[in-house]
Amino acid sequence: MDEFALIRRYFSAIGSGDGVHLGVGDDAAVLEVPSGDLLVTATDTLVAGVHFPLDEPAAAVGYRAVAVNVSDFAAMATRPRWFTLALTLPNADSEWLQSFSAGLRDAALVNDITLVGGDTTRGPLTISLTVLGCAPTESIRRRDGAKAGDTLLVSGPLGDAAGGLRLLETGTVDTGAERHLVERFRRPPSRWRLAVRAAPQLHAAIDVSDGLLADLAHLATASGVAAEVDAGRLPCSDELLERFGEGDALRFALTGGDDYELLVAAPASAVAELETLGFIAIGRFALGEGVHVSGGPDLGLADSGYRHFRDAAS
Ligand code: ADP
Ligand code: MG
Repeated sequence: MDEFALIRRYFSAIGSGDGVHLGVGDDAAVLEVPSGDLLVTATDTLVAGVHFPLDEPAAAVGYRAVAVNVSDFAAMATRPRWFTLALTLPNADSEWLQSFSAGLRDAALVNDITLVGGDTTRGPLTISLTVLGCAPTESIRRRDGAKAGDTLLVSGPLGDAAGGLRLLETGTVDTGAERHLVERFRRPPSRWRLAVRAAPQLHAAIDVSDGLLADLAHLATASGVAAEVDAGRLPCSDELLERFGEGDALRFALTGGDDYELLVAAPASAVAELETLGFIAIGRFALGEGVHVSGGPDLGLADSGYRHFRDAAS
């Protein structure tokens, strides 16, 4: 099958088509941007063997490619609308493509976004997505707005995806807990609706892709404040605790990546309402700089550039 037939077959009708003047098939996509809105866009690339194991099922690769890209929109408290797909493939294996496009379609439905174009080339398996959306300037949330005195909250459990990836790499996925953790790696949560709802209460937001401490450091540095994490309040799933025990669960929650939960800064007056939306308070922002962890066992994180304090007063 030639490249064009392949594109038509697997990638021409993914998503509702909402706001699409011209989609897959012409030389470029043409989209309807509401007047007065800003255009928001983000790109992320997944390389096989680097961002996911080489033997991942194609449907999981497709789902995750969409989910991790949409997560950047959640982090901006913006609704994603459209995406393009730059696909580099070692060969046009139609079984793999069918399964990959099913995963893509599944995630597009969950996130209510439409595939509007892309590019297909030959080479080592690499999936690059660009997501587009529009929003009025006042509803967009950035990573540089946290203020000293703000509360730090997270939108769900941390560490599961890192646990799941560890299981995929070590080759044992048998129990219910193990399958749950692998699913959390393969199907990152869709948080953009939550973010849009919470936006009026938020000073700043970022998504957890590289790990809580790393992403929190980005937010704190951009905002010019210090962040303090209370290790005792970190939400870890029962499955993570059951499979890995408390020490490793905490290590995954602090330093593991791939959870794609939202990390936000909000004034104290907003915390109760954010908690009713499902956010969990895990720390605070203060004058100063850096990321500090209080409570919990000493995990020896100083080596990785983070400072550890046994209690917040030290
Ligand atoms: P061109 O030479 O015009 O760039 P392409 O073969 O690259 O032609 O693309 C033809 C059409 O198919 C374009 O509308 C493009 O956006 C779309 N397309 C190509 N690859 C993909 C893909 N992987 N996913 C979605 N659309 C694609
Ligand atoms: Mg092209």
